[in-house]
This record gives sequence, structure tokens and C-alpha cells, in this order.
Amino acid sequence: MFPKRLSEGYQSFLEGRFPSERSRYEKLAESGQSPEILIIGCCDSRVSPEVIFDAGPGEMFVVRNVANLVPPCDPDSESSYHGTSAAIEFAVNALNVKHIVVLGHASCGGIRAFYDDAKPLTKIDFIGKWMSQIAPVAERLGPGTGDRNANIKRLELAVIEHSLQNLMTFPAIRRRVEKGELELHGTYFGVATGVLFLRDPKTGEFHPCLETGAPA
Ligand SMILES: [Zn+2]
Repeated sequence: MFPKRLSEGYQSFLEGRFPSERSRYEKLAESGQSPEILIIGCCDSRVSPEVIFDAGPGEMFVVRNVANLVPPCDPDSESSYHGTSAAIEFAVNALNVKHIVVLGHASCGGIRAFYDDAKPLTKIDFIGKWMSQIAPVAERLGPGTGDRNANIKRLELAVIEHSLQNLMTFPAIRRRVEKGELELHGTYFGVATGVLFLRDPKTGEFHPCLETGAPA
């Protein structure tokens, strides 16, 4: 049975938001989408980019995977499908986005599971293989302090950095960044506080996006 929550939510959309944005939907259907922003976020149900950035239809091209990871550009590997890379390639080459935002977040279950060395969820364990991408990141960071939460946050921020670095392994992205046609941004959402942090490209440090934001 189709979840009641969804049919009710759809009805609310149809009666509320859709009429107010109808002309925008019609225009987008006719002319196609041309979002200027690609967001790479986590699947986490608390970190919906369209909600956090109050986005309307057609404004953001969103790719979500566990732990907002960008794998390195690896066109020669035929052993797996590259869903994230395909979406990134489409956003850059076909949609000509002007910004790519990696949106990490606090309390990331995928990163916490990696940190705690959680047992595989299934025999196939796709998630374990996916998260193993961050093993070199954790190794580079070293053992950290005795504060588990601080260590996990440090890893969450380093994963954002890692994804930004891997974005630059895509030749089309590197070329556009170097020509000033594309900007990359690192962001981190504090789920409990609602504070959005931006990565300073000069220092690599994260600071609140708005001065009015509550402390993390
Ligand atoms: Zn997450």
C-alpha cells in the first residue's frame, strides 16, 4: 500500500505549493532545466538540500549518496557503475552549472559507522565498500583525541575536503575552475542547531555562513 504520509503530502503540495509555482513548472517543462548549482549531499533524511536552501523547482541539481562522497574520476574502471560521477558529469558538461556545493553534516551515520568500524550490514555489504573510500582520509588524519564526537566531526569535515579534492580530478571540472567558470564550495550543516558552515578556501577552516547563526 502506498504510504498515507506520501499521498497526503502530495495532496498538500498539489493544493498549496503547486498552484503558486505553476507558471514556473510550466516554463521549466517547456524550456528544460538550467540550474546553476549542483549540490552533492548525504542521503540522510535530516539533510535535504532543497529544504535547507529553500529551493524552488529547477534551481538546484542534487546528487545524494551516503556521506556526500565524490569518488575520484576513474573512467577506465569497468567493474562498477558510477552513478555519482555520471550525475556530476551531466551537471557540469550538459547543464553548465556555475557552482558545486559539497554539503556534509553533523551526526553522519555513514561516517560514524566507519569510525566505529561497524560490522557489514549484509553479506554483499555495498555500504562497507562505499565507505572504504574514506579510509585514506582517516589515515591521513591520524588517531585524534580521546573525544569520540570531536574525532567524528573532524572526519566529517575531512570527507568534505576529500570530495572537493576528488572533484578536481575530473578534467572538465578542473578546466572550468581554472578558467573561473565554476566554483567549488564546502559546507557543513549542524543538524541540531541549523547552523550552516562554509569552508574558507584559503584556510580550509569552516565558519558559520551567517553571522546570526547560533553557535554550533
Ligand atoms: Zn550523512
